[in-house]
Amino acid sequence: MKIYTIGVDLGGTNIKAGLVDEAHHIVDSVSCKTNLPRPEHEVEAEIAALCSQLAQRAGLDMATQIESVGIGTPGSVNPHTGVVEFNANFGYRNWPLVSAMEKLLPCRVYIENDANAAAYGEYIAGAAQGAKYAIAVTLGTGIGGGIIIDGKIFSGFNSAGAEIGHTVIVKGGRPCMCGRRGCWEKYASARALAEDTLAAMEQHKDNIMWSYVHGDPARVNAKTAFDAMRAGDALGTQVVQNFVEYVACGLTNLINIFQPEIICIGGGVSKEGDTLLAPVQAVVDQEDYAREGMRRTKIVTAKLRNDAGIIGAAGLATQHQ
Ligand SMILES: [Zn+2]
Repeated sequence: MKIYTIGVDLGGTNIKAGLVDEAHHIVDSVSCKTNLPRPEHEVEAEIAALCSQLAQRAGLDMATQIESVGIGTPGSVNPHTGVVEFNANFGYRNWPLVSAMEKLLPCRVYIENDANAAAYGEYIAGAAQGAKYAIAVTLGTGIGGGIIIDGKIFSGFNSAGAEIGHTVIVKGGRPCMCGRRGCWEKYASARALAEDTLAAMEQHKDNIMWSYVHGDPARVNAKTAFDAMRAGDALGTQVVQNFVEYVACGLTNLINIFQPEIICIGGGVSKEGDTLLAPVQAVVDQEDYAREGMRRTKIVTAKLRNDAGIIGAAGLATQHQ
């Protein structure tokens, strides 16, 4: 009899759940709107309903054929106590999610911070598979991260660690919502790239990039400067070069602290592949403290993309064995 697990990606906008087999493949998935604000018990009921739906559609008996359910969600998530201590999007504090879900479901439930769960997904089934020391970096609206040390998710003594986006690369630099100035994500996130692209365009009203976005600043995104660079535009090339240096600066910091075997880069801008990673690698090659060493950190693109969170959450039971 095949045994399955369920991974849940509990976000502020959507709740996504996937039925995952023993080979870490998503066999089926369902989702619904999170519909915040709403009380905790309603969100718990929605998660339970999605899990039941997955079992039913696959003709599985929840009690005997679903080994565990893992939930990844933003905020300070304590995997040991099963409590979501703080989640700004949801407005909940000290939410005993595991005990609530275990009352609704006939199997063990595990929770983890969503970025950590996604990193774990890349470790068990994606670009960092087999690398016991790995870091997953997501360049998105901000910069998310997950750190794997000796096969275990590392998030500090209080489960609030791995906030790699909020490490400062420019002292006294751009203000960040976290209260600091000069955080890495204010320079090297996809959003920062789009903002820097627009700022450069505003200085050059005749630049080719204005034609890419039909004159509409709202259409500038993380791809705009890369497209201009491919077309041989000097301004686009300059914006990309600055971005590459910002990305490389933060990555070199991570490498010098952790020397992970693999760093995998996710988020939409990672689709640029070697156009982004090759110049980033070139800067890291000049700055990595261990650059003369025989064994060097590999910087690669993430493999599981949007599925990483569900696959990682579905595999969380193995973190607790
Ligand atoms: Zn910050």
